[in-house]
Amino acid sequence: MQNKVLIIYTGGTIGMVQGKDGSLHPFALKGIFEAVPQLELCDYTIDSCQLDNIIDSSNMTPRVWVDIAEIIKREYDKYDGFVVLHGTDTMAYTASALSFMLENLGKPVVLTGSQLPLGMLRSDGRENIVCALEIAACKEVVIPEVCVFFENRLYRGNRSTKVSAENFDAFKSYNYPSLAKAGITLTYKKHLFMPQPEGELKVWKQFDEHIAVLKLFPGITKELVDSILHTPGLKGAIIEAYGSGNALTEDWFINSLQDAIHRGIVLIDVTQCKAGSVKLRQYAASCDMERIGVISGHDITIEAAVTKMMHILGNYGDNPDIVKRMLETPLRGEMEQVENA
Ligand code: ASP
Repeated sequence: MQNKVLIIYTGGTIGMVQGKDGSLHPFALKGIFEAVPQLELCDYTIDSCQLDNIIDSSNMTPRVWVDIAEIIKREYDKYDGFVVLHGTDTMAYTASALSFMLENLGKPVVLTGSQLPLGMLRSDGRENIVCALEIAACKEVVIPEVCVFFENRLYRGNRSTKVSAENFDAFKSYNYPSLAKAGITLTYKKHLFMPQPEGELKVWKQFDEHIAVLKLFPGITKELVDSILHTPGLKGAIIEAYGSGNALTEDWFINSLQDAIHRGIVLIDVTQCKAGSVKLRQYAASCDMERIGVISGHDITIEAAVTKMMHILGNYGDNPDIVKRMLETPLRGEMEQVENA
């Protein structure tokens, strides 16, 4: 029997064609087969559906993540894999969010998009969509993960990050190797995949959006830090610190963080560096943060940190011990496993 793949079209550049006036607008999903006639050659069945609202992914919200996850849950038994066509701008956020939402995922969910619309001659979308479909439909190698495919590489979704607004290789995964490479053949690195789950697929749909990202920079003021940490309803904040998680050591800064923690706000430390990990206590400039209870985000991306925090606060927000433990623990391969973390 042929394998079956479901394309879920959410919007983004890939789905756009140039109108007669030169402007870009989304095309109807059936246009995919006109734009990518090679799809007729596939030896698997391709079905497609689209969200009610096709969006530029800059308008992405947790509500839309739930819509995507609900489609996957509803169609899970009917398909061998899923391809999500998505704008590149927030693709890494959606991939991360879906990875946390879809517990016990046993089939590939591959997000892809393009830098140039499918309707353009030089579009990178054709290659991306064909490879994403091949991976999602593959009988021999089943990747039980949410992934991002872009320009020859398949990445773990919650490790990926958009790095270029210009180049076709727009995504990178600095802290985890790619899961597959598309050359003349598709080469899979099976030893890097998440293990096949034992339980049934479970979808976690709650997100708490009352979080903040506090990016440090030399000269940051107490007013700015306090205004962020006193945002009404704030439950958690991600501190984008320097290097291996270092921050200014001035009293006012540490006191502001400590006050936030006393008010029940959970704080996690991630690095502004693209590669590498937070290592609290490696420098004196991170000791105070560890002492007052800031949690290490290790080598997590900002996209995964944001979505993980929203996911955990949304589902366990009334239990601070669980929130802390889950933030410290890799849930879906989104960060390194650190002993005694
Ligand atoms: N603004 C577009 C989006 O993210 C960019 C793209 O798809 O490449 O929806």
